[in-house]
Amino acid sequence: MSDSEAVVRRAVERLRPLYKAASESWWDANVSATEENERRRVAAELALSDALADAELFDDVEAARANGAAPLVRRQLELLHASLVPNQVPEAIRHRIVELEASVESRFAQHRGEVDGRAVDDNEIKRILRESDDEAERRAAWEASKTVGAAVADDVRELARLRNEAARSLGYRDWFALAVATSEMDETRLFATLDECDRLTAEPFARWKAETDARLAERFGCAVGSLRPWHYEDPFFQEVPAAGGVDLTAVFAGKDVVALARETYERMGVETGPILERSDLFPREGKCQHAFCIDVDREGDVRVLANVVADRYWADTMLHELGHGAYDIGFDRTLPWLLRDCHLTVTEGMAILMGRLAQDADWLREVVGVDAEEAGRLEPRLRAALAAEALVFTRWVLVMTNFERALYADPEADLAATWWELVSRHQLLTPPEGRDAPDWAAKIHVACAPVYYHTYLYGNLVASQLHATLDRVAGGLIGRPEAGAFLGERVFRPGQSVRWDRLLEQATGEALTAKHLARDIAAGLAD
Ligand SMILES: [Zn+2]
Repeated sequence: MSDSEAVVRRAVERLRPLYKAASESWWDANVSATEENERRRVAAELALSDALADAELFDDVEAARANGAAPLVRRQLELLHASLVPNQVPEAIRHRIVELEASVESRFAQHRGEVDGRAVDDNEIKRILRESDDEAERRAAWEASKTVGAAVADDVRELARLRNEAARSLGYRDWFALAVATSEMDETRLFATLDECDRLTAEPFARWKAETDARLAERFGCAVGSLRPWHYEDPFFQEVPAAGGVDLTAVFAGKDVVALARETYERMGVETGPILERSDLFPREGKCQHAFCIDVDREGDVRVLANVVADRYWADTMLHELGHGAYDIGFDRTLPWLLRDCHLTVTEGMAILMGRLAQDADWLREVVGVDAEEAGRLEPRLRAALAAEALVFTRWVLVMTNFERALYADPEADLAATWWELVSRHQLLTPPEGRDAPDWAAKIHVACAPVYYHTYLYGNLVASQLHATLDRVAGGLIGRPEAGAFLGERVFRPGQSVRWDRLLEQATGEALTAKHLARDIAAGLAD
């Protein structure tokens, strides 16, 4: 055994049980939020992060990387290096960052804006923005959604300064550069991809938004030029107004969406039974209200947490989470432990590809049993709705990612001006006159999931790119075992043995591109 292999073996012996313990305690705390489970979760996460912060381990990995090694060993060293780097920060800064993040997060959880002197939570704000025709009330609700920004802005700026200090101590320009580099992205390529997305969506978005604005102006009885951010339903305009979607309530009423998801995979030759058996799928008191998939041990213990009811959202979510799960149980089991893992952009792409089926007319007909005539009627509207979602979301990610780069480039800058400049340019919204509140700080991701947002956009690009490939090699994916076999062999099996961008290129025959998403959008809007 070479020295490099010995370094990898020692690291894995140390990290593997800590990962498993952290995963198990995360699962337990989410299926049953007791104080005891929460205490165990925090302890397990601390133990893992302490190991990742170990300077000696980091030095060994750096030395082994410099010495060169066989390809698979080198790949493991790269992955180890990427997960250790962000933790090699002076302890005082690391602890200060963790404390401040936790404090900002809990203020987000507790903060309530006010409308007419009454406290409103996020659901109530969204309800007003969906239902109210009273401009003053809408404006009050929108402004209420931003007051959390003012409450945390100073601390979010401080977090940016601390993260920059940490990044610079490790030789990076700023935190943005560190975060991108340690997630196996290249900053130049990232912005080339974002520019490509900008170019391909600018014109269709402007057209779609002009139509939407005309409808809104009619609804609110005002001129298009008088529309302001509170006239849209989502406080950040990151989602399509519900009127642009298709109501599938009746289609899913009384349906077993877990069985539908399972059958979808089965018909592609992908067995999800072992995942479902370990999963916790239905709403219950004291349980996390969201959904996620977790690979507990990288040896087949893969579980989904969900809160399934019979509707479109949960059909999408079950298809989505099982996409992650199918990926996780599909790694080549003979790969070393460090390589039985996947890059976020590719697993998100796989999950989004499958989740989109819940709004696919062919899937509704073939798997849910909607009659052919009804499915035919729904088809153009569903495609238009998906296209609008993709457009609106892409423009929003352009705002977020460009803003985060500007934030870390200079946390002392006039960030309100930067924010509204980006919102006007990419989302074509008209800023409220004279507004200089820190609205950028009202988005929790800026504080608590820094430099991550572009991953969601990449997931959409990967989903469209994989779909185009499956159309070519398997004639689609619904009821196509060839599609399941292709994904299993070309996408799942290699795990992290190949860098994600190479893997995508090998599987689809081209580097990551926005052109397939752009084509999906164009096709949806053309109908
Ligand atoms: Zn996901």
